[in-house]
Amino acid sequence: MTAPQPKPWIMAIAPYIPGRSTTDDGRKVVKLSSNENPLGTSPAARATFAGAADTLERYPDAGATELREVLAARHGLDPARIIYGNGSDEVLHLIAGAYAGPGDEIIHVRYGFAVYEIATRRVGAEPVIAPDKDYATDVDAVLACVTDRTRVIYIANPNNPTGTYAARDEIARLHAGLRPDILLVLDHAYAEYIDGDAEDGGMALAETASNVLVTRTFSKMYGLAAERIGWGYAAQPIIDAMHRIRLPFSITIAGTAAAVAALGDTDFVAHTKAHNAKWRRWFSDEIGKLGNAGLRAVPSQANFVLVLFEGKLTAEVAYKGLMDAGYIVRWLPGQGLPHGLRITIGTADETQGVAAALRKLVDDAG
Ligand SMILES: *Cc1c(COP(=O)(O)O)cnc(C)c1O
Repeated sequence: MTAPQPKPWIMAIAPYIPGRSTTDDGRKVVKLSSNENPLGTSPAARATFAGAADTLERYPDAGATELREVLAARHGLDPARIIYGNGSDEVLHLIAGAYAGPGDEIIHVRYGFAVYEIATRRVGAEPVIAPDKDYATDVDAVLACVTDRTRVIYIANPNNPTGTYAARDEIARLHAGLRPDILLVLDHAYAEYIDGDAEDGGMALAETASNVLVTRTFSKMYGLAAERIGWGYAAQPIIDAMHRIRLPFSITIAGTAAAVAALGDTDFVAHTKAHNAKWRRWFSDEIGKLGNAGLRAVPSQANFVLVLFEGKLTAEVAYKGLMDAGYIVRWLPGQGLPHGLRITIGTADETQGVAAALRKLVDDAG
């Protein structure tokens, strides 16, 4: 050996590909590729963030006391059982780090969130992929993947990149079918976008069961993706295990302060939710009108829509055509979706614009 050798399981990781913000020729265009909040962030959060410039020399509170207390009060939780991290991505990594290693298996669904496979391989565990049911989570298929070596199951609900949603009774059935030593992770990055007051019962499960972790984020609905604040809720022993390997200062003073302010701005959250619901419905209906041309919108409960291209116009051609028209969306051949584009719901103008551009591409394809 002539050089340091990375572990083989590290070299088996396909690097995460983030959503793009510029075109091939470097033009800056409308970014509908990362599921960010098109309405920005809460003005209160922005003002609080700016105020944090006065304490740059201080380390953050490693215990995130204020954040945990505000979250606990808002959601009716025990603050001691809240874990936090540099985005919910860090929390997802902490779980694999604490509960799996070489020889273990971690299940995620086909067309699942790319971070799950990276978090699994990083610790030397084996990813096991459960087949989907028309792009949605298939609880029976997940249960059929369980073996003696299963340690963790990652389920995003709603799921990314499909936008599909497993209802409360399905999640309950999944949990009931698991051995108590298997940790069920319910990733609620998009839970705030679900229609009406429906929710999957994950938080109630995390409250009572000894093997459920729910993760949440400030990156999507709260419009704070830049500041990397995520959190999770589980039984105390799970939280204690994750704390052992957490980087002590992984969340910043400014980000934490902005998150606390964002939680208090319920008007901004309600406005974002209503905007998203309205334009998600409108955009899905517009795609429905292009059904003759082989376009199909997968039913979404998130802030994006997965559009499938099953006719003359391919997803690849549409991806490039949208880029020429000034819109960057997400084409995901690396995730088994060469025939799909994930399109974030933007402002009213952006959403109408991307729909018009798609209509034109369909016409041009003949
Ligand atoms: C965006 C997203 C996250 C959140 O990531 P952060 O690290 O909190 O920004 C988590 N899970 C899924 C499925 C996501 O799409």
